[in-house]
Amino acid sequence: MKRISFNLSLRLICCCFPILLFSQCSNAQKKQSGMQTDHKNNPYYSRTDSKKLNVSDAEWKKILPKDVYEIAREKGTEYAFTGKYYKTDAKGTYYCAVCGNPLFRSGAKFASSCGWPSFFESLTPTSVRYQSDHSHGMSRDEVLCGRCDSHLGHIFDDGPPPTGKRFCMNSAVLEFVPDDANAK
Ligand code: FE
Repeated sequence: MKRISFNLSLRLICCCFPILLFSQCSNAQKKQSGMQTDHKNNPYYSRTDSKKLNVSDAEWKKILPKDVYEIAREKGTEYAFTGKYYKTDAKGTYYCAVCGNPLFRSGAKFASSCGWPSFFESLTPTSVRYQSDHSHGMSRDEVLCGRCDSHLGHIFDDGPPPTGKRFCMNSAVLEFVPDDANAK
């Protein structure tokens, strides 16, 4: 009797384990894609409204995923060669992952060896704004989103023509939308 019961348990485990595993993988994938496209809990997110935002960090902390918050609002930097966009070369637009403000076109992106997505110009002069940054014993120019003031990265003078600028951005605060996605 005990042997039958043991065999039955073993069969149940063998049958259920792959189902559980598949379900966990599927949830993880949904979570990953959700972080990029699901802005249901972010009432400030808009790809068309250019009105300046004035939202407290405490409020953003409730809304944003942890990795986005740490870079956007605490001026963090992701590790080089780890971001999701440093190698992306598809045609499309890069939006602010915090507020949806259009920031860069793919045509201004260039292959930089620095390990972060790099652009030689912003979409419009007011897409971003700049401020001096003297943190970490360096003197740099910080790049912020022109609509929500989130930290995006820094700008340097070693970029390619025609501007000679290198907008060195963090992938976590960008959201890439391919042109063919807009056509659908
Ligand atoms: Fe923004």
